[in-house]
Amino acid sequence: MAEAAAGVTWSYVSPARRSQLIERDGWRCHYCGVLTVGWEQSGRKEGTTVDHRTPTVRGGSNELSNLVIACRHCNQRKHSRPYLDFMFMVWAAQEEVRQMGGP
Ligand SMILES: [Zn+2]
Repeated sequence: MAEAAAGVTWSYVSPARRSQLIERDGWRCHYCGVLTVGWEQSGRKEGTTVDHRTPTVRGGSNELSNLVIACRHCNQRKHSRPYLDFMFMVWAAQEEVRQMGGP
């Protein structure tokens, strides 16, 4: 566990791994489904982030299977919640939009 050195967060995801994820997920936020392609280039503050399905503070790994692309909005909302807890939040919010006659 070399990454666990003092002062270095071991939830760090290398740029190479990030590119792999972007290729796999196609710039689409795993949670809300928004396409984040071009956001970084255009300087949108929302940005494209890499999120841990199971947060590292809860024992999640840095393996690709535990990583997803997330828009910054979802990433911040999820924070260190367990994956399913947050998915239920997302689903509940989507259901609310449907009931209000949204998209
Ligand atoms: Zn999102």
